[in-house]
Amino acid sequence: MRDVSILVPGKLHEHAAKRISEEFRLVPLQAADPVLLAGRDASAIRGIAAMTTIDAAFIDALPKLEIIANFGVGYDAVDAGHAASKNIMVTNTPDVLNEEVADTAVGLLLNTVREFARAEAYLRAGRWAREGGYPLTASTLRGRRVGIFGLGRIGQAIARRLEAFGLPIAYHNRRPVADVSYAYHDSLRGLAEAVDVLVSVAPGGAQTHKIVNAEIFEALGPDGIFLNIGRGSTVDEEALIAALAAGTIRAAGLDVFSDEPHVPRALLELDNATLLPHVGSASRATREAMADLVVDNLIAWFDEGRVLTPVPETAGLAAVRTG
Ligand code: NDP
Repeated sequence: MRDVSILVPGKLHEHAAKRISEEFRLVPLQAADPVLLAGRDASAIRGIAAMTTIDAAFIDALPKLEIIANFGVGYDAVDAGHAASKNIMVTNTPDVLNEEVADTAVGLLLNTVREFARAEAYLRAGRWAREGGYPLTASTLRGRRVGIFGLGRIGQAIARRLEAFGLPIAYHNRRPVADVSYAYHDSLRGLAEAVDVLVSVAPGGAQTHKIVNAEIFEALGPDGIFLNIGRGSTVDEEALIAALAAGTIRAAGLDVFSDEPHVPRALLELDNATLLPHVGSASRATREAMADLVVDNLIAWFDEGRVLTPVPETAGLAAVRTG
């Protein structure tokens, strides 16, 4: 075991916590709140492993902090810009979850379009025998064009799957991706106009906050299907509810919400919304691979002064030892 204290604020995946306690001195804390550090030796903490909000005030409360290892590829809850300004490394867990999240996206899309969850509930309620076959679905995937907002690691894994379904793919990013043949749109609105399935797998943060709004749903149109497997914060949820209720778009499939785990009642009451409780990467195997990557980043940092998966904001940081 290394003579290094790693703070674990709030809940962490069990496998990550177990490995950290074998490799380092694990210091648990109820939450990432500077007030809770009172009476503790904050200057002993050199690393954080977390799946919770780590803001600037908490970073500032830990004078010897060198690294924040985030559990999850989305790290919008960590103030990575502030960490970078203080030479503090931030890591996330990319790639190991791509295929799992893409599988979830395809399942969510099929459920949204062909209503399989509702059809199963119909069968289980005995309605098939009593009332006859489940009503024909208003939608089909056949003949649809798919637009991906956020053609990154996960977006490309989704695109590969949907290509095999025989569906044409287009996308919007800030910059075109080299080596893909999909049609690029330099605006989200332009993409929404060109497709009838819009899949959002873009990261959260200030730049994408409520970027999927009423104008985008108008552009997607009355046969449009909207899927969100990225971050709830990217969507104006009120506008989405209004668009679903008014038939501005046909249906939505959502794995993420703006105030998780709270899902607005209005969404729960809409028949054309298919809802999942943020399960994109939620298989035991994939979550364990993410947990391993959290710990492997910490080990690489404290043993070798490098990390495996830095976030872009801190990718250029050299090892700065304060120990
Ligand atoms: P990547 O960084 O590989 O991809 C993100 C893509 O979004 C890039 O292609 C980027 O292209 C594009 N993008 C970023 N900002 C903008 C912007 N302002 N406007 C337009 N395009 C933008 O990330 P991953 O594919 O690994 O993950 C994507 C997100 O998925 C994560 O951030 C996370 O929030 C979410 N996620 C959700 C999960 C779930 O359980 N539902 C599980 C895992 C991840 P460019 O830089 O050119 O703009």
